Amino acid sequence: METQLRALQKEALDALEHTSDSASLEAFRVNYLGRKGGQLTAILRQLGSVPAEERPRLGQVANEIKAEIERRFEERKQELGSLAGPKFQGIDCSLPGRYLPFGSLHPITQVMEEICAIFAGMGFAVAEGPDVETDHYNFEALNIPKHHPARDMHDTFYVTDSLLLRTHTSPMQARIMEKQEPPLCYIAPGKVYRCDSDITHTPMFHQVEGLLVDRNVSFADLKGVLTSFSRRIFHRDLPLRFRPSFFPFTEPSAEVDIACVMCGGKGCRVCKQTGWLEILGSGLIHPAVLSQVGYDPDIYSGFAFGMGVERIAMLKYGIDDIRLYYENDLRFLSQF
Ligand SMILES: [Zn+2]
Repeated sequence: METQLRALQKEALDALEHTSDSASLEAFRVNYLGRKGGQLTAILRQLGSVPAEERPRLGQVANEIKAEIERRFEERKQELGSLAGPKFQGIDCSLPGRYLPFGSLHPITQVMEEICAIFAGMGFAVAEGPDVETDHYNFEALNIPKHHPARDMHDTFYVTDSLLLRTHTSPMQARIMEKQEPPLCYIAPGKVYRCDSDITHTPMFHQVEGLLVDRNVSFADLKGVLTSFSRRIFHRDLPLRFRPSFFPFTEPSAEVDIACVMCGGKGCRVCKQTGWLEILGSGLIHPAVLSQVGYDPDIYSGFAFGMGVERIAMLKYGIDDIRLYYENDLRFLSQF
């Protein structure tokens, strides 16, 4: 039996040298080391039939041979593995790749783009201006001189005495009108800043300003444009209400309410039982503002409006806390 074992040892080690890939290596393993039909296993099974005094020594020899073949087998496996190139060692090419998660546009960006697209569809051009604005464009050119009480409503962040973070997108009215003669119609989207923070206010938020100047522009034109806009942004034909208001740079001025998007006008918690929600401020451009940029208010008239993008997005998506937009919580942001 020992002769048999030694012969097998030689044969196996020889055969191992001739393996060339993982398939032949596996064939070797089955043939020599396999539990079923493996040649070494077959010889070991015969141990029971040798005389008892021979058994321990033969058993030891058999185990040594088995250990050596296994050791050489593992070595050969490593050798063949390294032939495939060091790059592929330990890499399972059949596993699926790792994907980067998909991002999406911020809900404010989405609503801002939607608002711009609606007005662009009505023929409005888009203009953008600086976030750091002069006192002149932010206030003076809009008929808000120094010490005008309306300045108190703006909670302004001042950079210097004459520079500030714009408190609204309305400075774009004078900037646009200075550069060209009527007729013109523009919207101006952008960031604005006020020193204010609670569930409906953030220190930075977004507005879209709109203005149209031509001969014979009336309040009816303003109503038509805003009604058309509200139908498209909310995808519903909800009634609008123009409520008299005051802005120094428009006359007459109106705040625009839409029938509550939650209850349709019946009254609920969101609309504080009034059935109405304020969506924007608007009016006919004040003659003083037109004169200031060199337009003759006896020839030209125009309307202007300004809306908060966060406000529109809150109503559109039923969000009750404005701060959710800026907390970078992916569970919230990924819903849009
Ligand atoms: Zn309501």
